[in-house]
Amino acid sequence: MSWPPIEFSCLRCGECCRRLLVDSQLVRKGLPLFPEERGLFPEELIRPGVGIGHPDEPGFRIISYQLTQKVCPHLCDGSCGIWDMRPTVCRAYPYMPVITQGGYVTREASLECTSLMMEAARRHGAFDLDDGSLGEEIEALRRLSEIPSEAVGHLDEAWIYDLKRGRWARFERLRP
Ligand code: SF4
Ligand code: SF4
Repeated sequence: MSWPPIEFSCLRCGECCRRLLVDSQLVRKGLPLFPEERGLFPEELIRPGVGIGHPDEPGFRIISYQLTQKVCPHLCDGSCGIWDMRPTVCRAYPYMPVITQGGYVTREASLECTSLMMEAARRHGAFDLDDGSLGEEIEALRRLSEIPSEAVGHLDEAWIYDLKRGRWARFERLRP
């Protein structure tokens, strides 16, 4: 049986706001934020995210920040307490930017999203998303992708801040 593409519908379950830390063997990453989005969260919950240059040298330029929390402090009874002001990364979800082996930044739909997980189960794993139902998300993703694109474009001098070790690591280590 062939299924029509999924018209995305958020269930407002709040699950994506409860799993904001991504751990790998290499680094722990939090919710990425543009510099102008830092003010949406208490200062003590924010660390640098991606930087260009060298962390110990003058001119080091931080292009993004990250939230240190696994559960978003704005999650309230399963809903976002700052919905109209939520950061770009939240506007892009369930899409996320990913870096391919060839060094391109492309998009991936998160199968951790409850809505997509349920659709994938119903359709035995294979499905397409109807982009027409995700216009705002795609627009936000385009903006969000500027962060990994800039890092990939300056790979020799790009760094990511590892929340687990509390120090900068070479961004190139994240490449597949
Ligand atoms: S800002 Fe809102 S949408 Fe984004 S993680 Fe927090 S509660 Fe969820
Ligand atoms: S996990 Fe998916 S369905 Fe649930 S709130 Fe997040 S985007 Fe919506």
